[in-house]
Amino acid sequence: MNTLVYPLIASVVLSVVTTQAFAQIAPGQAQPSRAEMVQPAPNTSWNLFNLNGFDTEEIAPGLYTFRYGYTRNIFMVTDDGVIATDPISPEAAKVYRAEIAKVTDQPVKYVIYSHEHWDHAPGGQIFKDEGATFISHENCKAHFEDLPNPNIVMPDITFSGNYTLELGGRKLDLLYFGPNHGDCLVVMRPDPGSVLFIVDIVVPGAIPLAGMADNSLHHWMRTLRELEAMEDWKTMIPGHAGPLAHRSAVTERREYVETLMASVKAEFDGGTSVFEIPSKVRPTEFSYLRWYDTNIQSNVERVLTYYFMGW
Ligand SMILES: [Zn+2]
Repeated sequence: MNTLVYPLIASVVLSVVTTQAFAQIAPGQAQPSRAEMVQPAPNTSWNLFNLNGFDTEEIAPGLYTFRYGYTRNIFMVTDDGVIATDPISPEAAKVYRAEIAKVTDQPVKYVIYSHEHWDHAPGGQIFKDEGATFISHENCKAHFEDLPNPNIVMPDITFSGNYTLELGGRKLDLLYFGPNHGDCLVVMRPDPGSVLFIVDIVVPGAIPLAGMADNSLHHWMRTLRELEAMEDWKTMIPGHAGPLAHRSAVTERREYVETLMASVKAEFDGGTSVFEIPSKVRPTEFSYLRWYDTNIQSNVERVLTYYFMGW
């Protein structure tokens, strides 16, 4: 397996230094075409897919998204305190706290983990020190205990299924869809309104990172279909990429992975050698997506393991 795995890791490193224009759509706008989705955003003040530094955008009254390098989170300001999410890292969390302080004097009362991965969860100590309560799905806590990271603050409150946090007259719904990317990821729905915070299972305008790591392919696709079936939301804040994207990004991601799965299965069933499939399957109709050139082969390799090895 090493001949498959090592190129995946190298490709992760390559992929994070690539840049490309990216789609964002204002709330309420009509669904764009594929071509429109990769055009620059209508809001030219938004840095489309900046991987440098940090920025904070107000998406709706009291609902903000903070980006630090490649990773993004949200926070909500209420009359009784702030609800923060993924601290990202100790360095990012310091900047995150300072950005929150620019818009409110309220203390951070809660920190919510989207899932257990180390490019999102570390760095919460600064919020623990001011008395914040940490919340995650119970399966995240199990991961934190199984593979400890000294920079990750253990959750104080865990839940199974869905969970709703209420503070200062506002609500944050945490929606659990079962396993997909890991087995503790929640989609967050502020207020609950037309904007969802969706981490990692969709990165709008891009193909997945190398290896499509820690994804259960069929549960991932099921989750995306369930999100598509929820008709009462319009836009998403992603865990990576620009601040806001249209809900059609979910469909785009599902169609990409399902196309890969169908293509790899056809080759596999047709008797093509497993050593040939990674360089043979190329769904070029998706080549307009960011990271296609650097990540396509490793994405194919990941799908191949699904049909060849059952994971
Ligand atoms: Zn992740």
